[in-house]
Amino acid sequence: MEYLPLFVDLKDRNCLVVGAGEVAARKAGLLLKANASVTIVAPELSAATQNLLDENKLTHLNTVFDETQLVGIFLVVAATDSEDINRRVYDHAKANNVLVNVADNTELCDFILPSILDRSPMIVAVSSGGKSPILARQLRARLETLIPPSYGNLATLVGRYRENVKAKLPTLAMRRRFWSDILQGRVADHVLAGRDKQAEQALNALLEQSKTDELQQGEVYLVGAGPGDPELLTFKALRLMQQADVVFYDRLVSKEVLDLVRREAEQIYVGKQREWHAVRQEEINQLLVTHAKLGKRVLRLKGGDPFIFGRGGEEIETLASEKISFQVVPGITAASGCSTYAGIPLTHRDYSQSCIFVTGQLKQGELDLNWSALVQTNQTVVVYMGLAGLPTLSHQLLEHGMPADTPAALVQQGTTAQQKVWVSTISELPSVAEREQPVAPTLVIIGHVVSLHNKLRWF
Ligand code: SAH
Repeated sequence: MEYLPLFVDLKDRNCLVVGAGEVAARKAGLLLKANASVTIVAPELSAATQNLLDENKLTHLNTVFDETQLVGIFLVVAATDSEDINRRVYDHAKANNVLVNVADNTELCDFILPSILDRSPMIVAVSSGGKSPILARQLRARLETLIPPSYGNLATLVGRYRENVKAKLPTLAMRRRFWSDILQGRVADHVLAGRDKQAEQALNALLEQSKTDELQQGEVYLVGAGPGDPELLTFKALRLMQQADVVFYDRLVSKEVLDLVRREAEQIYVGKQREWHAVRQEEINQLLVTHAKLGKRVLRLKGGDPFIFGRGGEEIETLASEKISFQVVPGITAASGCSTYAGIPLTHRDYSQSCIFVTGQLKQGELDLNWSALVQTNQTVVVYMGLAGLPTLSHQLLEHGMPADTPAALVQQGTTAQQKVWVSTISELPSVAEREQPVAPTLVIIGHVVSLHNKLRWF
């Protein structure tokens, strides 16, 4: 290990920054964030350093660097354009036992400033030892997706209860078990969902060992898995996916997304098929309840967004009436994902001022839609579940006055490597489907924005 990571308390310690350009401003800003007392040495200030000065955050020595400025200094950063000056700062700092960092010159550094992920009081520092700051930043960005912003609140809560817990639980082993349960369980869930009061209640209950039954109740996460591309998941979806004990998923959830669910979680397929949908839904609702009552963290993973043609409302209604706690996480809905990946903007100043989502699911072979609302001009119509009823859809729209040459598209398996897009007109679309035989899931998009596909396709 070339460098030992240390977390240094810089509060009110004297730190010197030599130079006043952008890099110097960035480093001074970082030191100030840690409440150091910062002095900048430079004959001229850049706008960024001037700003810090204007905010009364630092002291400015309006002169060139000399050795005497190092007296009483804890650490110094050299970030001037001049190699000579930087080198002089380094030499003097060394001679005076002052910690030194020369920007962009690892050889002349006692310490390096890492890439920081700040979830105070939790702090993650990443460094490549000066070899590739970009790689360090990329790793930091990856960690950022794994560690939610409210993560620090967990540490704060633990900090506040440390002494209490110590008083109550005499052995280290007991305390370790206690905290490990807290940090992986319901209390952490509450904190990360912003429910501080419930978190504290649950923690107290657990500490008193009196309300353990209540604590043992499970929770359901109703999570939108997006249209297929796993990178379209939200941070929150991923976090909940990685702490589930059991997952119920259906046909629309892609394999790549499913691979991101916690490995130990039991996976249960509740795939839906058009015809026996209605019967099955009640069963699914009941399954969620049963598993939550066993104290499990139940993940209900749905394609797209759970509240857009996803029957998410019905599932949580059952949970609510059974008094089971739940969270809902929105997902990128097929309309948004497919249109974006097909290069078809849903609205456009020149072509479409509104957008309407409808279901094209047939009921006894019929489509019961408000046709006059769908044939308005300057509007985009997105039809979910519209493949089987496509001939009826096209026929009815034409009957109700939609111009036959209105552009229309089919997007099959949007956002995935199997995505296919067919562009045609509303009158021709059924014969295109007949010929090309698209497979589910396929989305229908109708409106003049579809004509932009040729120009804007990118995926
Ligand atoms: N809740 C989902 C929609 C469920 S209805 C959402 O918000 O996206 C199922 C319909 O969604 C399918 O019949 C199809 O029309 C559409 N759909 C879902 N994912 C799709 C995808 N990746 N590509 C094309 N259409 C998709």
